[in-house]
Amino acid sequence: MTENLLIPISEIPAILKKESVRKIFLVADQDAYRFSGAKESLESCLSEYEVTLFDGFELNPKLEDVIEGIKKFRGSPCDITIAIGGGSAIDVAKLVASFAAQSEDPKDIICGEKEITSKGVPVIAVPTTAGTGSEATHFAVVYIDHVKYSVAHDYLLPDYFIVDPSLTMSLPALVTMSSGLDALCQGIESYWSVNSTEESRSYAKQSIRLAWKNLKETVLISSGANREAMCLASHLAGKGINISKTTAPHAFSYAITTYYHVPHGAAVALTLPEFFKFNSDVKDDDCQDSRGLQFVKNRISDLLEIMECHSVEEFINQFKLLQRSIHAPSSLNEVGVNTLDQLDSLIKQVNPERLANNPRQLSEGILKNLLRASIL
Ligand SMILES: [Zn+2]
Repeated sequence: MTENLLIPISEIPAILKKESVRKIFLVADQDAYRFSGAKESLESCLSEYEVTLFDGFELNPKLEDVIEGIKKFRGSPCDITIAIGGGSAIDVAKLVASFAAQSEDPKDIICGEKEITSKGVPVIAVPTTAGTGSEATHFAVVYIDHVKYSVAHDYLLPDYFIVDPSLTMSLPALVTMSSGLDALCQGIESYWSVNSTEESRSYAKQSIRLAWKNLKETVLISSGANREAMCLASHLAGKGINISKTTAPHAFSYAITTYYHVPHGAAVALTLPEFFKFNSDVKDDDCQDSRGLQFVKNRISDLLEIMECHSVEEFINQFKLLQRSIHAPSSLNEVGVNTLDQLDSLIKQVNPERLANNPRQLSEGILKNLLRASIL
């Protein structure tokens, strides 16, 4: 089943022909575009089209970046958008292509006051990292004044995606580490989410297996075979969270990324072990999954089985070993969160909506107790 998910970048010319494209809006992270080999692969094909390039956005994109992109798009309307880069490039492209087709103010849509009502031009998502799975989701992340918003709409799901491991071969170890941890955590969170379905769990299970087995080698050795495994893991986790959404570790991670500049996947992984332990101790009176306590307990057992661990403690030890072996931070302390005041202000930034997806109920007080251990 996983084989046909690999779609090489050489498929793009056929997609452009099929869509009868004349003008292309190219959203690219310039470094990723060049170093992934995507530029070289697409050069001769793109020379046949009128191309408007938009590369004016930052990692963890802001509203201003999106507005700039919309202006550029409207100045030269195109028939298709191609997004090349990591999650930031793909999310910006999804938002620009969609918002350019709406009459409402982008900020109002992001803040949930107005809705997306019409479909934008088709998007071809070309990930050059193996992690976010953004090519397979109907969400896009954007920041307004340091606050993270996730815009969700069916129209944001890219119409086409490329999953080509060759584009990830030259990724620096730091990016491979963080994006790979993102894929692994997204798989685990998708699996225990209160919104999981049989279908999402099937994607998540395959994703976790691949990431758990291949992440360390991909960072340290980086052969073609484990790059391929991580690309599939990333894409499958994306398909999983597209249905289930993410949970507590993601909810807590955004403020760590914003205020302590920890790359997204590494920030999510920082607290995943604590939440794994917490969720495994779920009780009848704090279970948030309508399918009940035993259902959640069974999912935690499944997770241990998928990762071939005999106990929660063994999982936590192995997860921390993995973090250390790929040079990822493994405690809040390590990234500069050293005091309870710092922890409190991080907790205040947590989006309660994401906590509602967690199988076990969480409050500000519980979060404090839970995460206190990792800074003291
Ligand atoms: Zn993520």
